[in-house]
Amino acid sequence: TMAHSEALLVLENFIAGKFVPCASYIDSYNPSTGDVYCRVPDSGREEVEDAVRAAKDAFPIWSSKSPLERSRILNKLADLIEHDLEAFAQAESKDQGKTITFARTVDIPRAVYNFRFFASSILHHTTECTEMASMGCVHYTSRAPVGVAGLISPWNLPLYLLTWKIAPAIACGNTIVAKPSEMTSVTAWMMCKLLEKAGMPHGVVNVVFGTGAKAGEALVCHPDVPLISFTGSTLTAQRIMEKSAPHCKKLSLELGGKNPAIVFDDADLSQCIPMTLRSSFANQGEICLCTSRIFVQRGIYSEFVKRFVAETKKWKVGNPSDPTVDVGALISKEHLEKVRSYVKKAQAEGAKILCGEGVDSLDLPAGNQKGYFMLPTVIADIKDESCCMQEEIFGPVTCVVAFDTEEEVVERANGVKYGLAATLWSSNVGRVHRVAQRLQSGLVWTNCWLVRDLNLPFGGMKASGIGREGAKDSYEFFTEVKTITIKH
Ligand code: NAD
Repeated sequence: TMAHSEALLVLENFIAGKFVPCASYIDSYNPSTGDVYCRVPDSGREEVEDAVRAAKDAFPIWSSKSPLERSRILNKLADLIEHDLEAFAQAESKDQGKTITFARTVDIPRAVYNFRFFASSILHHTTECTEMASMGCVHYTSRAPVGVAGLISPWNLPLYLLTWKIAPAIACGNTIVAKPSEMTSVTAWMMCKLLEKAGMPHGVVNVVFGTGAKAGEALVCHPDVPLISFTGSTLTAQRIMEKSAPHCKKLSLELGGKNPAIVFDDADLSQCIPMTLRSSFANQGEICLCTSRIFVQRGIYSEFVKRFVAETKKWKVGNPSDPTVDVGALISKEHLEKVRSYVKKAQAEGAKILCGEGVDSLDLPAGNQKGYFMLPTVIADIKDESCCMQEEIFGPVTCVVAFDTEEEVVERANGVKYGLAATLWSSNVGRVHRVAQRLQSGLVWTNCWLVRDLNLPFGGMKASGIGREGAKDSYEFFTEVKTITIKH
């Protein structure tokens, strides 16, 4: 195995501009082979303490730099990551299990763009001013960075989601301590290697690797970290809220979803079907924005199902480094088992598995037999109350059900605890507006999916999150506003 033939990759924390070893380490697996290939620091209170101190020390200098000076460094960092795009993409694919194609075309380009975007947007913010002539007063607002920001990110889009936090946090003048997922730490470590060359002052960006329970919680509980930006599961977010309550921390929480696609009988199926395949199965279904409940209007239900299943069967599962592969490996053995168990539960409840898990056979290349793979799976004849229709599965599993009326589908689509993203498929513009307004969802895509303008708010309702991120929203979150009144 690779673990025997190649030396293990050993990561180190990045604190105050230096790589520092840790007393203990966690094994990290290559999901496509099942081999341990990397060791990740198992940081705890001490390491977090050192990182927070470094960030605190760097804050006065970094926060007093002009937006233009900070912008130049962010742009330089973007260029350096882009220069190494292929190496980053290979590393992300190996560490996470995602296809090399996805890492090359989505993850790493977006990480680069996150830095460029906030390098630019920080130059364009303005504050408010009002005049109160009768009182002889002018009022204006002033915004300042908050301090040391704690940034905690998940394993599904590792560098993409981490940089979506780092870029706005430092652009606004905060210094940071980041804790990536212990399962996908490699690209964050690679990014740290470029900071010196980008001209980043020591202590502005600190990265502490380790588990949520140890390193993550130490960061959340640290009294000198007034702000936490978290992306991950709803369960972890509840714990973070609890732990940060004694300190009244500022929180931004981007959480899970149970996203509906609503397909009306006037939808253009030639666009809707390929896009709904992507929205269901891209990145192995491990995107918070993935569709997992497809509501299809009765008149086109059987045609939709027939075509959707036929197309699903064409998706190739296999070695993520093969550029012709559509579905790579899931993140871990435990996660694969969890996703599979949902399919079994649905079956036990009498639902029909139309293709994929337990129905079709999965042929894997010799080197990938121990990897965490599964076929994209479509479930039908399932009740809205079923756990597969209520809980986030976060794998390549999607349910398809029929509906009759607009009224009914809105109610059913809203009938889950989550409210992150929805897609609507219809050529009736009036209907699209009506339904979009009524959906409890932070994002509604009509006749498309995953088209993002980073200027606009991103985030979820209900159990999908608190707060929004985006140009203006991130600026507001990562700064503290003050209202100043001047009387002549
Ligand atoms: P997770 O909640 O298990 O972990 C996320 C991060 O939190 C990891 O870095 C983890 O180590 C850390 N963590 C865990 N326990 C912690 C604790 N007690 N204190 C502090 N930190 C802790 O989530 P995951 O399994 O890594 O990611 C998948 C989840 O993330 C899914 O629910 C998915 O929907 C969600 N997600 C949401 C978005 C979004 O933008 N809304 C984007 C991607 C993923």
